[in-house]
Amino acid sequence: MKLAIFDEQRCGVIDGHEIVDVTAAVPHHDPDPFGAGWWVRLVRDFDSLRGALEELAAAGPRQRLADVRLHPAVLNPPKLLAAAANYAAHVEEGLAHVERLQYLDAGSVEWMKNFGVFLKSTSSIVGPDDDVLIPADRLEAGIETHHESELAVVIGREGRDIAEADALDHVFGYTLGLDISLREPTDRSFRKSFDTFTPIGPCVTTADEIPDPGKLQIRLDLDGHVRQDCNTADLLVSVPGIIAYASQAMTLYPGDVILTGAPPGVGLIEPGQLMTTSIEGIGTMRNAIRVRSAARA
Ligand code: MN
Repeated sequence: MKLAIFDEQRCGVIDGHEIVDVTAAVPHHDPDPFGAGWWVRLVRDFDSLRGALEELAAAGPRQRLADVRLHPAVLNPPKLLAAAANYAAHVEEGLAHVERLQYLDAGSVEWMKNFGVFLKSTSSIVGPDDDVLIPADRLEAGIETHHESELAVVIGREGRDIAEADALDHVFGYTLGLDISLREPTDRSFRKSFDTFTPIGPCVTTADEIPDPGKLQIRLDLDGHVRQDCNTADLLVSVPGIIAYASQAMTLYPGDVILTGAPPGVGLIEPGQLMTTSIEGIGTMRNAIRVRSAARA
């Protein structure tokens, strides 16, 4: 099932080029995005709700996808985590970027090669058709902003110290995420957390439709030119490995989102360009790049 959130925070099931409104089968639904956490509860209780959702998905009101506004496929996730240095070829190109931009000292460069998991702000999340805004002062200072296109995992079942062998049992589903990153010498959790720096969507595909997250093709085109075209088979630490690693430190809760790391091919994005990103079995996002100029109160 491909679950999406659209228009007045309605819950929908994507079926080809159409979306079916299944909100009536969602308990505690609240159109206020700061409402009672209905999406997290839906993820947590999905097994018991699936029957009603499927029934409504077959019979409910349909609209053309093109006629609705899709919101981020996740709503107020408790945590937004991301893996670093998780494709060998990206680690190599990252070091090359660092050398060219002369950002970091030798110790930091060494540190960058290591796999790790860090937090991004959940307020950086935007939808699959929303703009990515680059701060004007960074543009003026010549600081580069890069795209990273990543498979994202949505946790369904709470757990801590999860064994790798059990990890996929804790997955609710998968979605597509961009981890937009300023290449500046500030902490990862800061330079990747600017508003709009984490487009997520167009849907969460439930895990039953993606039995093996380790063989998905990810592709990002910039203005129609291929930038990233890679398979999750090349992840250095697999999806189960990332879940096991993160859960050593923190309990993973239903609705938590984990970006799995950037494939090779990251690069500069500039205002006026358009990113088209897709993962097989999930869908496509189209995010235009613009300048964030005026200060917001
Ligand atoms: Mn990343």
